[in-house]
Amino acid sequence: MIALGDLVELNEADLRLDRVKHLIDDIDDELGDAPWLEALQTEIEEQKTLVDEIATRRASAESDLDDRRQKIETEDGKLYDGSITESRELRNQQEAVYALRRGVKEAEEPALALMEAEELQREASTYLTTLLTEAQKSWDTAQAALKSDRATLAKEAASLETDVTTWRGEIAAADLAIYDKQRLTRPLAIAAVAGGVCGACRLALPTTILTRARRVTEPVFCPTCACIVYVP
Ligand SMILES: [Zn+2]
Repeated sequence: MIALGDLVELNEADLRLDRVKHLIDDIDDELGDAPWLEALQTEIEEQKTLVDEIATRRASAESDLDDRRQKIETEDGKLYDGSITESRELRNQQEAVYALRRGVKEAEEPALALMEAEELQREASTYLTTLLTEAQKSWDTAQAALKSDRATLAKEAASLETDVTTWRGEIAAADLAIYDKQRLTRPLAIAAVAGGVCGACRLALPTTILTRARRVTEPVFCPTCACIVYVP
């Protein structure tokens, strides 16, 4: 006699364990860093470089303006400190100060444009950093939920593994060998016959197979799907 009833129980426990392990594998595929993390971090780094570059150019433009204004003050001072007495020389000095003032006016516009551009780049930088923080927060929440689901499934798997071990302890080695060989090729190793139909492939079984399956003296295989069939 082959212990078909026990094999059915074992197979059911194995199938449940297969499903749980599959779910755990699916979760493992989703655990880890977000797929967008590296690209977003790179973008943030590049944006910071842009900000640094434009800040350097803005600082240099401002320093240039300071120098020009300082020079105007110095040259302007010479008009009134009595160091220049000749009227022709004074006129020349006045012309020179005017020229310097025009120079400042011309340099002010690009410096202002740089300040505005820097402001925009800083805003873009802040936006990206906020985006990363928010997205990371959502990702972490989802990951925590996955980890919790995984822990539940792991407990279920451990319990099913105990069931499998228990059932295997009840079944004769020869029957286990047949079962294990079946399980290598199909998860559903053993199926009940209902109304003369194989429970696995749903095809009608020949009468000779049904008769032998009813006797339960030897494992009987479905000629179509090759799983062990039994008549409950
Ligand atoms: Zn079948």
